[in-house]
Amino acid sequence: MRVLVVEDEPGIVSGLQTNLRRFGWAVDAAADIKTAWAALRSEPFDVMLLDLGLPDGDGTELLRRLRSASRQGLPDPGLPVLIMTARDDVASRIGGLDAGADDYVSKPFDAGEVAARMRAMRRRSVGRADAVLSHGDLRLDPAALTVCLAGQPVDLSSREFAVLLALVEASPRVLSRSQLETKLYNWDRAVDSNAIEVHIHRIRRKLGEQVIRTIRGVGYFVPSVSE
Ligand code: CA
Repeated sequence: MRVLVVEDEPGIVSGLQTNLRRFGWAVDAAADIKTAWAALRSEPFDVMLLDLGLPDGDGTELLRRLRSASRQGLPDPGLPVLIMTARDDVASRIGGLDAGADDYVSKPFDAGEVAARMRAMRRRSVGRADAVLSHGDLRLDPAALTVCLAGQPVDLSSREFAVLLALVEASPRVLSRSQLETKLYNWDRAVDSNAIEVHIHRIRRKLGEQVIRTIRGVGYFVPSVSE
């Protein structure tokens, strides 16, 4: 999952990055509205975490601009947005929700709760009710980062889990290597050109060769269950 954190407090940003990266998520940060807007226009994010008090304006301005963007290309006007507000600031919370936020957390927050709310928003945005994904013999639990194949737990790294989750969510659509890279790597990290191949190779070794198919020169897909 690709996450954009819009927050001007460096301590909060680094705490979130550390905690959210444990799930294999790619976390980018922007400290003001201008930087955030440029990021939203250039990268496909899955979720945005938005502070309301920013140095160059109110976060709800960014939210309104995002929600009124055209449906063609980036930014994605339907991007799930979680706002961060002060504990007793009910007016901001109401303003944020009315400006198009999907949910909120109050500061100081627990990073585990933030992650759970983001997973819930992501599920809603892809139209999935169950927190655990089932696909044939596979069961993926994004909260626990666990995978079972025919009832047997299989040990995947957080990156391998993130690759498999993206492909299962997209199934049977094909994802290109660069689409997978954008979900896994944030913009300040150099990506090895064969990193995705390495993850896929390891997933196949653990779950079987047939779990992920390759279309040479195009990308990868997990076949639909009926195949
Ligand atoms: Ca702030």
